[in-house]
Amino acid sequence: MSRIAYVNGQYVRHSEAAVHVEDRGFQFADGVYEVCEVRHGMIVDLTRHLSRLDRSLSELRMAAPMSRAALTFVIREVLRRNRVKNGIFYMQVTRGAARRDHYFPAEGTPPTITITAKSTDPSAAAKKYANGIKVITLPENRWDRVDIKTVGLLPNVLAKQQAKEAGAQDAIFIDRDGIVMEGASSNVWIVTPDGELVTRPAEHGILKGITRTTLIDVAKKLGLKVVEREFKTEEMLAAREVFFTSATGICVPIVEIDGKPVANGHPGTVSSSIRDTFFDVAEKTAI
Ligand code: PMP
Repeated sequence: MSRIAYVNGQYVRHSEAAVHVEDRGFQFADGVYEVCEVRHGMIVDLTRHLSRLDRSLSELRMAAPMSRAALTFVIREVLRRNRVKNGIFYMQVTRGAARRDHYFPAEGTPPTITITAKSTDPSAAAKKYANGIKVITLPENRWDRVDIKTVGLLPNVLAKQQAKEAGAQDAIFIDRDGIVMEGASSNVWIVTPDGELVTRPAEHGILKGITRTTLIDVAKKLGLKVVEREFKTEEMLAAREVFFTSATGICVPIVEIDGKPVANGHPGTVSSSIRDTFFDVAEKTAI
C-alpha cells in the first residue's frame, strides 16, 4: 500500500508530494507545524494540538488554512488513507508560495498546508521505556520565541546530531544562568528527592508541550504534586528521576546526563506510572 499525503487540497502519493520551490517554508522557515500521536485508532489530544496551531499562526500573523472542522476532517482522512492505527500525523502550514522577498507576500496569498502520516513501531517505544535514554546538555542558542512551534529547528537539529555523535540520544538546552530549558524536541521533568514533580514554567523560553499540559492532569489523578518552577542542572543531576515528555514519546526516562547516571541509572517508577495512566486521561478522537 502506498503512502498518501495531503498537499493544498489534494491527496497525493507520498513519493510525489511536493510544494513550490519558492514556498516560504522552504525559503525562510516561515511556517509552523504540529505532531500528534495516534494510538489504538484514536488521535491523542487533538483539541489541544489544534489550539496550539491556532496560537502559533496568530503569533506569526499567518492565515489559518481552513476551519477547524475541515482540518479535522482532512487529518482523519489522511490517517484513514494511510491505515494508521498506531503512529503520528505531521501537519505543516506556511505563509505560502511567493517570489522570494523577506516582506510578507501579498494579502490573499494562500497558505501552504501539508499533512503526512506514518505508522510507528510500538516495540521501539517499549525499548526506550525499558532502557531509558542518555542525554547531553548544551548551551541554549535558540531565539526567544521558541514558544511558537515554527519549522525553524536548526539549533534543535544540530543539538540532536551532537548528542548522537557523543553516544547519547538527545540533548537538553541550558541557559546562561544554568537553568534547564527543554530538550531538543521535548519538555523536561524531574522528580525531587521529596517526590515532587517539577517542570519549568512554560509562559516563555520553551514550547508549552501538549503532553506536558496533559501530564499535569495525569499527576492530579495519581495524587502527585506538580510544581512549576525553574531548576538548574545540579538539581536535575541530583533528582530521583528525570524524564522527557512529547507527543511522540509520551514520557521517556532519562538515565544518564553528560555521562553521569541519574539516581541508580535505571528508569524510575513515577515515569512508568504516568505512562500507564496517560491515555486514560488524554482526549481521544476516533479516526
Ligand atoms: N519542546 C520542543 C522543542 C518540542 O519540539 C516538542 C515536541 N513537539 C516539545 C517540547 C513537546 O511538545 P508536545 O508535548 O506538544 O509534543
